[in-house]
This record gives sequence, structure tokens and C-alpha cells, in this order.
Amino acid sequence: MAATFDFEDGLKMIEELTTNSEQTQEQVLGQILKTNAGTQYLSPYLNGKTDKELFKTNVPIVTYEDIKPYINRIANGNTSNILSTESVTEFHRSSGTSGGQPKLIPATADVSNLRTLFFTLLTSVAKKHFGNIDQEGKRLEFMFTKPDTETPSGLKARSSSTSFYKDDAFTNIISKLYISPLEAIFCSDTNQSMYCQLLIGLIRRDEVVTLGSVFASVVLRAIKFLEDYWKEFCSNIRSGQISDWITDSGCRNALSLVMKPDPQLADSIQNICNCKSWEGIIKKLWPKAKLISAISTGVMLQYVETLKFYGGGLPLVSGFYACSEAFCGINLEPLTEPSHVSFTFVPNMAYFEFLPINKDNPTMSPVDTEPVDLVHVKLDHYYELLVTSYAGLYRYKVGDVLKVTGFHNSTPQFKFVERQNVILSVDTDKTSEEDLLKAVTDAKILLDPLGFMLKGYTSYADTSLIPGHYVFFWELKEKEGNDGQVLDPKIMGDCCYRMEESLGYIYRSNRKQNAIAALEIRVVKQGSFDALMDYYVSRGASMTQYKSPSCIISQEAFNILDSKVMAKFFSPKIPM
Ligand code: AMP
Repeated sequence: MAATFDFEDGLKMIEELTTNSEQTQEQVLGQILKTNAGTQYLSPYLNGKTDKELFKTNVPIVTYEDIKPYINRIANGNTSNILSTESVTEFHRSSGTSGGQPKLIPATADVSNLRTLFFTLLTSVAKKHFGNIDQEGKRLEFMFTKPDTETPSGLKARSSSTSFYKDDAFTNIISKLYISPLEAIFCSDTNQSMYCQLLIGLIRRDEVVTLGSVFASVVLRAIKFLEDYWKEFCSNIRSGQISDWITDSGCRNALSLVMKPDPQLADSIQNICNCKSWEGIIKKLWPKAKLISAISTGVMLQYVETLKFYGGGLPLVSGFYACSEAFCGINLEPLTEPSHVSFTFVPNMAYFEFLPINKDNPTMSPVDTEPVDLVHVKLDHYYELLVTSYAGLYRYKVGDVLKVTGFHNSTPQFKFVERQNVILSVDTDKTSEEDLLKAVTDAKILLDPLGFMLKGYTSYADTSLIPGHYVFFWELKEKEGNDGQVLDPKIMGDCCYRMEESLGYIYRSNRKQNAIAALEIRVVKQGSFDALMDYYVSRGASMTQYKSPSCIISQEAFNILDSKVMAKFFSPKIPM
């Protein structure tokens, strides 16, 4: 972006794009087809033609599995015009932790340009609502990367966030805007990286104006780290010495630039952290912070209550909706409560189509099964997102379900509903990610009066016995004090029952017919969900892009949680 592009230009561009979304979408598709109609993938469908109708009738709707053979050919060295005529510059590894396996998404030079534009527009919206806070201080944003891997063709495979952090557009501005040094972001040991980012964040606490990470779960991970390490941080700050276990030279170098004995600062931090309750700890440690920036929608909604507890009234801002496949939408009202956030699609980012989904809403008319264009979606309807990108994805199912909540100019706004295919099922029941979240939200209210917060949950269909049953793993935390959790079995049983009541009609009738046994909650020890995150990160997921799974299928992931179970509770009766 040109240096002269100020935030008002960004806002103006958003207005123009969202007013002319139909034309913009036509232009985007026209451009993609003009460039790529002759590729090995598209030419059998289009015969080199570029008209939209042919595209819609002939080009199939696909999943990652369908195009994997093409991706593998590129990864293995055959790069000539397979999916796109533009050169593939690298692959982006999607995290895949919310649904399937990590995927390799091709990226071209266009991706980097669109990304820069998308984040410029995002910054414009932030400036409109919060002023130029970058002039008042720095952002403490927890960022993590994994070392790149290479495909046989020599192309780099990295997460899209790693690609972003390695882009010159980011490295050139990092020290101006952010507290975290590049050395820490590029340290492959996440504990050392977290230690370094947090310690510098504490030393420079008076400069911090925003705190965050891409997703809410990582901010909570940072708070947990602080809980475990605050005494060590205070001792380091008091002595000006770095702990011996920090062996990464980049982290040590970055820390050595800011470390000096500062007993006064150590005392202040100690006084804050030594409190019985950590309510509002973020605001106390970083008094100039104006907001917490972290995506808190979708599966991240489960963390909102805990983040608010630590945040001490700071607004939680879910700025955008994006995936490795495309940058999609911006939250134009950043102060909206996470459960009501909608994202306005940015029509020049990709060509978007929407496959209607009938979510069994009886008030809705029967929906067609043909995908519709961005401007033709209907209010309150649910859709699965399809992306056609500059980098060679055509009518590609991203796997996300979105609901239309309104329009900004002529462009629809969507609420993120859930990942498609995350389904818990024991018999004829099919419980989606959204159903799970609702059931858990309804049940955890019962714990509020007891001073417990739900720090994380996931679920599992246990079919080892007949009939099978739903198992929920819950990690609970007392708002005041640590450990020594004494859970009232009656209330925990009521939580199980409340979840069963919340689940769908088919679940409940299966329960009545004894086709599903009583729902179970297994309460796990503190830190269990961090261990789950570590497991997925060790398997290749990027910590920055990690999304806690709503439902687990992997035996190893199950074993991690099951080995940390402290207590089990069952629903006491059949739900009405
Ligand atoms: P990745 O490809 O690893 O970047 O993961 C992208 C996925 O993260 C999307 O397809 C969504 O499922 C999820 N995601 C991204 N942004 C949001 C958001 N604002 N709210 C909820 N989920 C999101």
C-alpha cells in the first residue's frame, strides 16, 4: 500500500467496494477466468472460454480432496499451468484443527497484494473507531511461527500467518507498531517465544495500547503462561537476568536489549499478580490498553467469558474473517459483542458463491441447492462458502457455514456459524458445532453462582458401549483461588441434563428410546486444553491459527484429555 493511503481512503474504498459489489464480483471472476481458463484444470470445463454461465454450469463444486491430485503435482515439481497461469510462490498450510487435516493451499503474488490491502482496510476501520492508537503506544500481540517446510518442488509450505509475519510489508513495520520482537516470533520453541514476548510486554507495560492474538484461545494461553511464570518474570525483572532455560539466541538477544535490574517494576507486577483473584488482570498489568484484539467468534465464543473476566472491561474485538483460501470479511462495528459480530465481505478479495443450507428452520421457504452469488444471498439464510481465488481454487468448499445477518450498502454481512462436518453422532442424531456450543452455553450458566468459569470444552462420541453416549470434556477454573476444585455432583449432573435438554429433538427422542445413553461430563485438570493445543502444534498446526476442536476423533487427542480426567458426571434422567 502506498504510504499516502490514509485511513479515510480506506473507509472510502470500503464504501465503494460494498456499493458496487455485484460489478466488482463480476470483474474478479472475469479476471480470474481470463488468466486461468487455459489451465490444465479449467480447460476441460471451459475450452478456453471465459463466460460466467459456462463457469457456473460446467465447473464442479469441489472439496480439498478433489483437487489434491493437482496440488500434489505442483508440490512435486510440475508447475506448468496446472491450477493457475501465475507462478505458485508458496503453499499455505491451513490449520485444519477445527475440522479435517492440514491442507496445502497454493499462493501466488496476488495473495500477498490482497493481504496487504485487506489489512489496510482493517486498520482503517480500527482507526475510525479507536483513533490512531498506534501513535499512543504499541500493540502486544502474541505471534508464533513454525519453521517452513519444503515440498519436493522446492516450494515453501508455511501457515498463512507465518507467511504474513515473513512478508516485508510486516517486517518493515513490526518494531514501529508491535512490542514482540521478530526474533521471538520466529523462535520455533513456543514456550521460549511466549516467555520472551510476555517478559518484554511486562517490561514495556506502560506502552501497551492493545493486547491480542489472531484467535482468543492464544490470549488465554498467554494468561495461563503468566499464571505459571509470573514469579519467575518478577525475579528476572528484579535482577535484570534472563532465565537459563531461555537458550534460543534470538530470544536472548532481543531480551538483552531491554533487560536491566528494575526492582520497582518487579514489585508492581508482583503486587498485581499476587492477588487472590485475577479478575481484570490484563487491565491492571497493562493500564493503557484500550482493547483486546482477538477473533472471538465461532468456536472461539467459548473463551469470551474467561477473556472478559481477565480483561476487566476491555472491549473484545473480532476484526475479521479469513482463511488460508481467501480474505473474506471485515467487522465494520468492532465494538459489537462477540456473539453478535458479523463480517461484511470485501468483494474484490475473491469470487464468492454461497451454497444454501437448510438448517431445519421451519419458517424458511425450501431452499434451492444451487449456489448463489454474493449479492443474491437472503437475509437470515444459512450458506456454505465457496471460493474461487486468483491462486487457482475454483468453486472450492471452504467448509464454513455462515448466516446472513444484514447488508452494508449492497454487500451482505455474515455471522460465522460453524465448521461444516463437525458432527457428533451416536445413532440417527446429528449434532453440529453450533448445537454443541449452544448446549454448553446453556449448561455452564449453572456454574456461575458457584464461581466457576469454563476454560475449554470439547466432545466425543463414545460408542465403546451400547448404547453409545456423548462425552464432554470440561476444564473448569475457579474465579478466585486455584486448584482444590470441589464440584457439587448434583449441579454437575444438572449441567449434563441441561445440555441434553438443549440438544435437538432427534437426540432427545433417541434418548427416550434408549438408543443413546446418558450424557457425560468429564472434568479435566487445569492445563489439559493447553496440552491438547501442544499436541496439535507438535503435529504441524500453527499455534497462531490453532482452533480448539469442538469434537475430537483422533485417539491420541482423546488419550491426552482422558488421562487428565478428575471426575465424571452423568445426566440423571431422560430429557423432556
Ligand atoms: P486457516 O485456514 O488455518 O487460516 O483457518 C481458517 C478457518 O478459521 C476458517 O475457515 C474458519 O473456520 C476459522 N475462522 C477464521 N476467521 C474466523 C472468524 N472470524 N470467526 C470464526 N472462525 C473463523
